[in-house]
Amino acid sequence: MRKQCVIYPPIEELRPTKAQAFLRALVYLLRNATLCSLVTTVFTAPFFYQVYLPLPVIRHLPPVLLFLVTFQFLCHALPWFTFNAFYLLLDSVHPEFGFAPGWRDKYPLLRELGDYFAQFKLTRRPMQIPSQSLILRTIGKVFVEQYMVTPLLGYVFFNYVCPVAPEDMMPNPHQPLIGLSDKHHSTWFVFLSLIPHFVLANLLNEVGFFLVHGFVHYNSWLYRTFHKQHHEYTGTISIAAEYASVTEEVFANTLPSVGYFFYFFFAYTNAQVIARRGAVGGDASQLWLESARAWPLAMTWMWARLWETYESHSGYCFSDTTLGKLGLLHGHRARFHDFHHTHNLSNYGSGIIMDALCDTMDPYLKHTFARRIKDSVDKHSAEKSKRSTEMIFPMVLREHSPTKKQQQEQKESAKKK
Ligand SMILES: [Zn+2]
Ligand SMILES: [Zn+2]
Repeated sequence: MRKQCVIYPPIEELRPTKAQAFLRALVYLLRNATLCSLVTTVFTAPFFYQVYLPLPVIRHLPPVLLFLVTFQFLCHALPWFTFNAFYLLLDSVHPEFGFAPGWRDKYPLLRELGDYFAQFKLTRRPMQIPSQSLILRTIGKVFVEQYMVTPLLGYVFFNYVCPVAPEDMMPNPHQPLIGLSDKHHSTWFVFLSLIPHFVLANLLNEVGFFLVHGFVHYNSWLYRTFHKQHHEYTGTISIAAEYASVTEEVFANTLPSVGYFFYFFFAYTNAQVIARRGAVGGDASQLWLESARAWPLAMTWMWARLWETYESHSGYCFSDTTLGKLGLLHGHRARFHDFHHTHNLSNYGSGIIMDALCDTMDPYLKHTFARRIKDSVDKHSAEKSKRSTEMIFPMVLREHSPTKKQQQEQKESAKKK
């Protein structure tokens, strides 16, 4: 077969201008923040105050445990299960690379599911499919970290290091306020006032992740010591998002992700405690008011952030689906980060703006350009061959294209058999 050679234009022509990069980032950030704000206002906050906190099992937990269960289970373990169960199921029943081919033979519905979602799978070579031992190692690591290490560290921190008493760190279940103001405002005001917080949380995550991630790629010793583990996945699946060294987990993932909202917890809680100590007759039940307001925001943010990172590592790109076109999924970011893993090159941020500003995505731009050319050539030649086939065999094509009635008859006879 003749190999096609792509002639690239100068890289400056492939790069988006800074104005384009800002505009795209602005659209993404505003859309994402508006959705997060809406979900917080109409779902997370009512759920948190009216369903979760009044639960007897939750209400009777000691404050430190309540904090850890809320953060570790509600904000992390639950989204981990929810999103990864979905992607792992798709990976299990994929027609070519499925981990559980037996399921396809046993359950026709799963076979159809695998066949349908296979069209969204990004290109994989057999050597890029993760081994069973790597998958088991990743799941084992997650369980040890989520259910042993983090709770233990949290317990030590809140009991022996944190200057704020644990009972000051959980909100009063009867306090239905959200937002970061101590005044009662309309739902519309709260909804609008939350938007900037999600924009800032997203930006902090993009900048923090880009700087730390770019730095460990820049220095070969740092890469080998801290980041190579994450790149054991050359064709990622969703759970690969959290397969990394502890140092990378803390500095590249956890701190940029939770930094913004946890600043509110501790800054506000500290400010309240200091105010209480300074004021005679301060009301202890009001202590958590300010910091408590950040919980529903943090919960929504954690679910949105984890969804994004699992989808970015899933190896599936849903940009062409209706949800993707509406901007409710992260197909662009999945393709963007997938290139980083499959080529171990460029794309150090999460695809919002930093790589476009710092010109650190040139190989990806060339790759995307070549893919577009290849797609248009393929489409053109497919149309051409279809036209020539139609010209040569019009009768044959007509004979071999069953009508709706014929299709129905074929289905019925298949059922009878
Ligand atoms: Zn990397
Ligand atoms: Zn990654």
